Amino acid sequence: MTSRKNVLALIVLGVIVLGATFVSLSSFDTSPEQPQAIAEATAEVENSELLYGLSIGGFDIETETVKRNEFLSDILQRYQIDLPTISTVAEKAKPVFDVRKIAAGQEYTVFKDKSGKAHYFVYQPNPIDYVVYDLREETSVYKAQKPVITKIETVAGTIQSSLYETLEANGASPDLAVQLAEIYGWAVNFYRINKGDWFKLMYERRYVDGQPVGPGRIESAVFGHNGKEYQAFYFEGDDGERGAYYDENGKSLRRTFLKAPLKYSRISSRYTMRRFHPVQRRWKAHLGTDFAAPHGTPIVATAAGVVTESSYGSGNGNYVKIKHDNVYTTQYLHMSKRAVKRGQRVSQGQVIGYVGSTGLATGPHVCYRFWKNGKQVDALAQVFPPSEPINEKYFAAFNRSMNAKRQVLASVGFGKQSNLEVYGALAFRIDQLFEPEEQDSRILEGFSALML
Ligand SMILES: [Zn+2]
Repeated sequence: MTSRKNVLALIVLGVIVLGATFVSLSSFDTSPEQPQAIAEATAEVENSELLYGLSIGGFDIETETVKRNEFLSDILQRYQIDLPTISTVAEKAKPVFDVRKIAAGQEYTVFKDKSGKAHYFVYQPNPIDYVVYDLREETSVYKAQKPVITKIETVAGTIQSSLYETLEANGASPDLAVQLAEIYGWAVNFYRINKGDWFKLMYERRYVDGQPVGPGRIESAVFGHNGKEYQAFYFEGDDGERGAYYDENGKSLRRTFLKAPLKYSRISSRYTMRRFHPVQRRWKAHLGTDFAAPHGTPIVATAAGVVTESSYGSGNGNYVKIKHDNVYTTQYLHMSKRAVKRGQRVSQGQVIGYVGSTGLATGPHVCYRFWKNGKQVDALAQVFPPSEPINEKYFAAFNRSMNAKRQVLASVGFGKQSNLEVYGALAFRIDQLFEPEEQDSRILEGFSALML
């Protein structure tokens, strides 16, 4: 163990012992996006008199659900609020949260006094945000957020049916499947996942009032596919550049082209010199790859470029053609709607249209065509150079962070969800003690010191 590791181990220990002290010393209550696992228990005691940041002393609290065809005025009149006050509040609410956006089925809470008169009406449009309509003499309306606790969690699973279902069966949000498909856009062919493929993930999960409200970023992942392991580690430098995912050698997982113009779909027909055309009912070459997806699914540019055509043809339907450089051109057919104009510059992943079945098509899909040096080729058979590897100046920091995350993944077992709450709490405490640079690797170093 290096001396720095010793220091870290000591700090980690100190954090555990002094956990409660840290809570009262730090100022994290003002940053709701930060992990606050340790704080959770004590905050309840401290704030037992507060609800939505309001003192509940002397009030009767009533929580109800907005009924169909019910307006704010209907609700507030039941709590002895007169119409002039209601219209003043509605006016003041316009720039904050228009009362017309109050929707049936959503929850609201009323703070009423002994006579049944409302002092505050609190509306929750979603699990995180809430709007306070202060109905006392001066009346005011403001928006706030419940504290969000971010924990680092892990999940592992072996795919039996779909990635989506496997995530759900293992207690993780199936939304992670979409993120995984993006991270591994090139390395793993998500359209051909097999039974027996497996994954281990370390990711952020956000909680409000103890309930998960959705996943945050995937920190690291390993995906087993066709007997190969694909590793992905998130890393962000301190130069303000967007973070990205790299493999264990610091090579970017992004390639110059995305594997598919849709984030999540299945290949319904491959590039072939000979196939039976389902509409024309004759054998002919299929010089494209068909990706089937529901009508209206966004279609994205597989690489940056300039739109050379955006039009309609009887066979192609609505289509877009993009010139990427002097070598590569791509085309996307049968769109229900086009979202770009000729001459427009597009970036990789930008939405250029939506899946449809215009032109000669039997069902909703996008026919993706690919040209290399003016000759049509099979997009799936192309090998592209990887994009930029990790910046040399970050190589050491990346390696530390990657090794620590790798250890965490190695410790994750299958068949259960191991919840690294402790880690989440420690990560937050430790990052209060260090300078922001290399924070990520230091946090994880601290964590691996804890694991030894
Ligand atoms: Zn096609």
